[in-house]
Amino acid sequence: MREQELVGRERQTADFVLTEHQRSAASQLGAALGKPGIFFLGGPSGSGKSEVYERAIERALAGEKQILILVPQIDDANALIAPFARRFGVENLCILHSAISPAERAAVWRSVHEGRKKIIIATRSGVLAPFADLGLIVVEREHDDSFVEEQMPRYDAREAAIELSRLWSCPTILVDHIPSLRAYFQIREKQITLLPLPNPVKADRHEPTIKIIDLSSPHSRARGENLGDQLRYALEENIRAKRQAILILNRRGGGTLLCPDCGYTPKCPSCEVSLIWFEARKKLQCRQCGHTEDSPARCPSCLGPGLRVMRYGTQSLEQEVRAIVEKTFPQSAHLVGRLDADTAKDKKNVAQIHKDWDSGKMLVLVGTQLIGSRFASKSLGLVGVVSADSFLAAPHYRALENAFTDFADMSGLLTRAKPAGTLYIQTFRAEHPLFERLKHFDYQNFYEQELSERKKFHYPPFVRLLRVNITGGEPRREAAAVTEKLRGILPAGSEIIGPTPPAGTHDQWELLVKFATNAPIDSSSLRRAVGGAELDPDPAVRW
Ligand SMILES: [Zn+2]
Ligand SMILES: [Zn+2]
Repeated sequence: MREQELVGRERQTADFVLTEHQRSAASQLGAALGKPGIFFLGGPSGSGKSEVYERAIERALAGEKQILILVPQIDDANALIAPFARRFGVENLCILHSAISPAERAAVWRSVHEGRKKIIIATRSGVLAPFADLGLIVVEREHDDSFVEEQMPRYDAREAAIELSRLWSCPTILVDHIPSLRAYFQIREKQITLLPLPNPVKADRHEPTIKIIDLSSPHSRARGENLGDQLRYALEENIRAKRQAILILNRRGGGTLLCPDCGYTPKCPSCEVSLIWFEARKKLQCRQCGHTEDSPARCPSCLGPGLRVMRYGTQSLEQEVRAIVEKTFPQSAHLVGRLDADTAKDKKNVAQIHKDWDSGKMLVLVGTQLIGSRFASKSLGLVGVVSADSFLAAPHYRALENAFTDFADMSGLLTRAKPAGTLYIQTFRAEHPLFERLKHFDYQNFYEQELSERKKFHYPPFVRLLRVNITGGEPRREAAAVTEKLRGILPAGSEIIGPTPPAGTHDQWELLVKFATNAPIDSSSLRRAVGGAELDPDPAVRW
C-alpha cells in the first residue's frame, strides 16, 4: 500500500492473486504476444489494469522483446519510473519525451536501436523511436487528446501505435477506465477485443457522488463570478474540514456565446457545431464551413435580453478561491495553486505544486484538464466543474464526447477519496441527457446516442475528415485550384466544405473534406492534389 501512496496509481504486488476477470484478461494478453491485435483493457481505478498489463510486459520481456508504453503527459511518464524500475529492473528502462535534451534523446534512440533498452516509457513522440524488436505496445489513458500532435508533422500516436503493432506483428493494449467513442465503435465492429475489469469490491473504495448544479435556478446563479452559491458553500465546507479540492475550467472553452438565462448557444444550421464569436467583426462564424451570422438581439430560445461571450479565466477563478480560503485560514501560504497552460511552462513551479499537493499543504488546485490523474488523493473531497456549458458548447463535433470523458476522468480523481468525495458540475443545461448517463457511468447508451448523431451528420467514425490549410502566395486562388483538383480524385459521395478564410485571417484559406466513408485514404494522390498545403487529418482536436 505504501507504494500506492508514493506513485499515486493503482499497484499490486507481483504475488497478488488475480480475480477471475483479471486472470482471463492476463491470459488472453499473454496468448496474444507475437501476433498483431488490438485490445481494450477497461475498468475503473483499482480494478487491476496495471497489474494485468504489467504481467504481459513481464512475458514480453522474458522473450527479449521491446515494450513501448505510451502515456499522455510527461508527468505520467515520470510517475511510472520508480514502480517500473522496481519490477522490471532499472537497466531495462528508458524515457522519451519533449523535455529531455537532444543529446539525451540521441543516446536513448541509440540504445533503443541497438536493443539495449527494452522498456520505453514515452509520450506521443515515442512512436517514432527506432525499435530493434518491438513485442508489445501499451497506450495508457487511451482517450486522452495529448496523443495527437497538433503541429507538422501531424500524427495521432494512438493510430501510429496500432500501425506499429501491424508492422511488428505484436499486440497493442489500449488502457482506460472507459473507451473513447472511437475505441467503442471499433469494439462494436470487432476490430478491438474488449477485456473488461469490473469495479473492485473493496472496503476502502468509495464511489464519488455526482451533483449537477442548475445555474439557471435563481438560487445558484453565479452573479458574474465563477462559483455559484451551492459550489461556493460546498467548497467552504470542504476547506473547513481541511480536505483538498480541485476546480476545473475547460482549456478549450470560451469564444462561444451563451444565454445567461437558459444556456442557449447558437449553432451552425448545417454542421450542428457551436458558432464562434469574433469580437472584431461582431459576427458569429462556423469554424467548419465558414457560415457567418449576426448575434441575435434576444435569446431565440427563452427570449431573454441577449447572449454573452462565454469567457472564464483560471486567474480570476484563482483569485476568487484565494479570497474564500483566506477567510478561513488567513495566515497560511501555498494553500491555493494554479495549473494551466501558463503555469505549466515553469517546471519548477509544477514540481512545487506537486510537492505542496502531495504533502497536503495545498488545499485547492485550480486549473484546466492539465490537472491529470496524478492529483487523485485520499484527502480530496471535492472536484468542481465551473462551467460544464463550455464543454458542451465547444465548437466541434466531438464536444459531447470530450465532455463525457473529461467529466468521467474528473470523477475518477475522487475514487481514492476517503470518505467519499463529490463531483459538482455547474451548468445552465442541467436537463441535458449527458448528465443522467454520466451519473450512472452509462457510456454505452451515451455513445450509442452520440453515434447515431454522428451517422446522421456524417462525422467520424463513419467518415474521414481532412482539413486542408492553404497559406502564402494567393491563398484564395490556390484554394479554388486545390478544390477543383480534389473534386477530380475524391470517392463518389465525398463532400468539400469551403474553401473559406477562418474569421480574422486574410492570408489563410481552409477547406474541409468529408470523405464518403471511413476507408483508408490514398495519401499519395491526395498529396499531389493539394501541393504544398498543410493537411490536418483530425481537425476536431485543436479547436
Ligand atoms: Zn457550419
Ligand atoms: Zn435564453
